[in-house]
Amino acid sequence: APATPYRGRFAPSPTGDLHAGSLLAAFGSWLLARHAGGEWLVRMEDVDAPREVPGAARRQLAALAAFGLHPDRTVVFQSQRGALYQAALDRLLASGQAFVCHCSRAALGATRGIHRTCVATAPRADPAVRLRVPDTAVIAFDDAIQGPQRQDVAREVGDFVLRRADDCWAYQLAVVVDDAEQGITDVVRGADLLDSTPRQILLQQALGLPRPRYAHLPLVLDAHGRKLSKSDAAHPVDPADPLPALRGAWAALGQPPHALSAAADVPTMLAAARTHFDPRRIPAGAATKVAAMQHQN
Ligand code: GLU
Repeated sequence: APATPYRGRFAPSPTGDLHAGSLLAAFGSWLLARHAGGEWLVRMEDVDAPREVPGAARRQLAALAAFGLHPDRTVVFQSQRGALYQAALDRLLASGQAFVCHCSRAALGATRGIHRTCVATAPRADPAVRLRVPDTAVIAFDDAIQGPQRQDVAREVGDFVLRRADDCWAYQLAVVVDDAEQGITDVVRGADLLDSTPRQILLQQALGLPRPRYAHLPLVLDAHGRKLSKSDAAHPVDPADPLPALRGAWAALGQPPHALSAAADVPTMLAAARTHFDPRRIPAGAATKVAAMQHQN
């Protein structure tokens, strides 16, 4: 058993096919888990029904298998775990840390959407549930890649949604409940989620859950230097031709390209990657353009 217990995860949302940015998160979280001698889990974050693309979950899991990234445990689906989220929400409501909110988006427009006090003039048929963020909620944490971080959650985010007006579980609640319930020690994901982390730490505190370590990987840029969004359909990776995409993700993680140059199949490439991976080389900033990733073989 490893000296420090390590359990990581990759948690895609089925909003499209696996793309360069999500492969980076999958490969990066897998490499860090393997490097630590730990476990690596996959969790399908399919709570946002309106944004789900039919068949995407199945295709993403098939793509991970084609890239040789096999989870150590059965994949869990957030759509099956509503009872866990409801139990957490009930605790927060009972303790007064969460409240039912009838505010409309338009009513919150005056405060740039930042909720501090309810401004609703009439009850809605479909209220949301929000976390009551204390005025003093300044959250600081040390990211293993991005360094020290700090956010004044009350001022910069406000009382955030846990249960949406459209009856979906909010990502922030589901991810916090699941990371704790699955015993995740290390959250490794794209830097696009860096500013969600203080909200998740605040929720962990409200629920009395442990705080995992955090490592936010560099963003992937497209050929025009724009960051790829999570759902960017423009840059899918081709599971039928996994080696170039793995080489690209390896380079984006700051690792030496020559370490993988001799590998001609996925298992050989992943074995070489495990041998040569050094987490200290992962850059903080976005540097690699996806065009370079795709043509590097
Ligand atoms: N499901 C989220 C996404 O697709 C990621 C959640 C996480 O890694 O915390 O970006």
